[in-house]
Amino acid sequence: MEIVETVRKMQEIANLHRNEKKKIACVPTMGYLHEGHLSLIKIAREYANIVIVTLFVNPTQFGPNEDYAKYPRNKERDIQLAQKFGANYIFIPSVEEMYPDNYTTKVIVKKFTDKFEGIFRPGHFDGVTTIVTKLFNATKPHFAIFGQKDYQQALVVKQLVKELLFDLEIIVAPTIREPDGLAMSSRNVYLNEVERKIAPEIYKSLLTGAESVLNGERHREVINSIVKRRLNQFKEFKIDYVACADAKTLDEPEFFEPGQTIVILTAVYLGTTRLIDNIIVTVP
Ligand code: AMP
Repeated sequence: MEIVETVRKMQEIANLHRNEKKKIACVPTMGYLHEGHLSLIKIAREYANIVIVTLFVNPTQFGPNEDYAKYPRNKERDIQLAQKFGANYIFIPSVEEMYPDNYTTKVIVKKFTDKFEGIFRPGHFDGVTTIVTKLFNATKPHFAIFGQKDYQQALVVKQLVKELLFDLEIIVAPTIREPDGLAMSSRNVYLNEVERKIAPEIYKSLLTGAESVLNGERHREVINSIVKRRLNQFKEFKIDYVACADAKTLDEPEFFEPGQTIVILTAVYLGTTRLIDNIIVTVP
């Protein structure tokens, strides 16, 4: 595996492989790799000959009061893991490389970004779509792999690709969980012992919502309140939102229809750590 630090060099490598008619898959990450990221690398291998993992903690997707400075980082370990799981290249640009002096260009997607995460993290998706565009231009992939864990992000990135006519396919990979159900996340290391014990309740709460749907509940606010009630049994949670919506459009009708696939999304604080998760269920 080769380590690449500049955009110019990354583009040269991508051009070389494209000229050889090789397929390139890009796996964008902010590092501190865990099994979730590694599953994306494995999926990338199934689609492409050349897998490029990108490692960049993107400052523009963090709000002023968020955890950019203390976001967990371990470059050496990430390099080893990316190699072990079959990446051909790891692209680790500096902030200056991705955001040249006095940069003025931002990529803004209007669809899907005005609710849920978009409300609680203003500007977050603008940072995501801007950096993803730059990473695509640096790595020139045929495929890019994103996790369902960041459900709304995956929809936004698909919309970006569609509207800016990127010649690549977005693959969405399932959420990898700890044995107790907690969705793997680089931020899980922030949790203290007590918080870590309670954290699986996030997924369990989503499961109670999904079960209610499978048992015939179709009233959106009732489904939301079932999830909220379970979360509220633990005083340690501070809920940003619990929402269910059409999985494709993120529309929020009063009632869901039989056969409709819905996503139940949540973001909660556990102490100072903000965690997100979601579950998909089809109305019987
Ligand atoms: P991050 O490093 O947290 O920005 O995540 C990089 C990519 O990994 C994103 O596409 C995430 O959706 C994906 N990802 C994060 N956690 C998981 C997980 N537990 N399972 C699958 N994919 C994940």
